[in-house]
Amino acid sequence: MKIHEYQGKEILKKYGVPVPNGKVAFTREEAIEAAKEIGGESGKVVVKAQIHAGGRGKGGGVKLAGNHEEAVKHIDDILGMTLVTHQTGPEGRVVKRLLLEEVGDIKKEYYFGIVLDRETSRITIMASTEGGMDIEEVAEKTPEKILKVTVHPSVGVQPYQIRNLVYGLGLPKAAHKDAHKLIAGCYNAYIKEDASLLEINPLVLTGDDHLVALDAKVNFDENASFRHPSYEELRDLDEEDPAELEASKFGLNFIKLDGNIGCLVNGAGLAMATMDIIKHHGGEPANFLDVGGGASQEAVTEAFKIILKDEGVKGIFVNIFGGIMKCDIIAGAVIGAAKEVGIEIPLVVRLEGTNVEQGRKMLEESDVELIRGDDMNDAAKKIVEAVANA
Ligand code: ADP
Ligand code: MG
Repeated sequence: MKIHEYQGKEILKKYGVPVPNGKVAFTREEAIEAAKEIGGESGKVVVKAQIHAGGRGKGGGVKLAGNHEEAVKHIDDILGMTLVTHQTGPEGRVVKRLLLEEVGDIKKEYYFGIVLDRETSRITIMASTEGGMDIEEVAEKTPEKILKVTVHPSVGVQPYQIRNLVYGLGLPKAAHKDAHKLIAGCYNAYIKEDASLLEINPLVLTGDDHLVALDAKVNFDENASFRHPSYEELRDLDEEDPAELEASKFGLNFIKLDGNIGCLVNGAGLAMATMDIIKHHGGEPANFLDVGGGASQEAVTEAFKIILKDEGVKGIFVNIFGGIMKCDIIAGAVIGAAKEVGIEIPLVVRLEGTNVEQGRKMLEESDVELIRGDDMNDAAKKIVEAVANA
């Protein structure tokens, strides 16, 4: 789950990480007020688009104002704009919130990040002298410029590891104390808030050798949301995919992909296998929709509607291995969805497991047009062919 920069900074602040003074605004009036407050007499302020994507600086979503008039101009330019960055895709995002922020005194920009490295199954802390707006390029072309330390889960980040980063970055002596505090603070924030990513880019060294987080990206691990009622308040539904949002209301696990075959399956493992076998036969999945174990017929019907709403979907593959989920519920949902919204694209159904005979009978007796798959392989082949010939 993603949150905005200003929210990430509020969290970092709680863990003792220095961030610039700033204020969020949702309207032009609020933004102008905040610019006055932050800018003070000089009027100098940074106007920053708040969207759930990086690369805002290069896309024109971060602008420095030298006086109040300039700040108003930047506010008018950025609030409401469709900001396109390398992370938003070509359609961009409409900017609905602004962060008005104190201008940082930048001597040097660094990169700092914490992620879970899935290869080592350990938290990895990364830092680089090549901070700023081109870190992706650094990672690709000169990966040796990114320092890494791997944290052992039972002991947490150790002072010697922090020293390795501090010396590796060549930070001036006067900034060492700040760096120790900042790295330990970020690590604590990562653990306590159940983050999946914490990134400060740029982390800046100021003229008087202090460290300040000028940007902040914090993603949460949604598997831990039961421990954090606060996640819900931090969500910005405008930034979430409408279909994924709709699915989550019904307890469905939906991820949109780029292909044209909609997949309705039960269980994440079966979803993975389904996507693999579609690709094996030369097709491309349009989504990953896992109805889970105990979904009601209503929720499964909703799942169909979500898949059908996507105009890119040219065929549907229902692949169910009934365990807790019963095949007759799926059959009922197929029939229900066909009645409610109509299914005018090829539909291949493969049912196996609990109440399979009952489910098949229901489908046969209904007037829903579908192709029956004998097993997973056969069904995958049939849907790929049907979509190719449609
Ligand atoms: P993004 O990563 O989305 O491009 P950033 O918050 O990193 O957005 O801002 C882009 C650049 O703008 C930074 O690398 C930094 O040079 C500059 N910048 C951002 N915030 C401030 C600030 N408060 N004061 C001065 N410069 C800033
Ligand atoms: Mg940045």
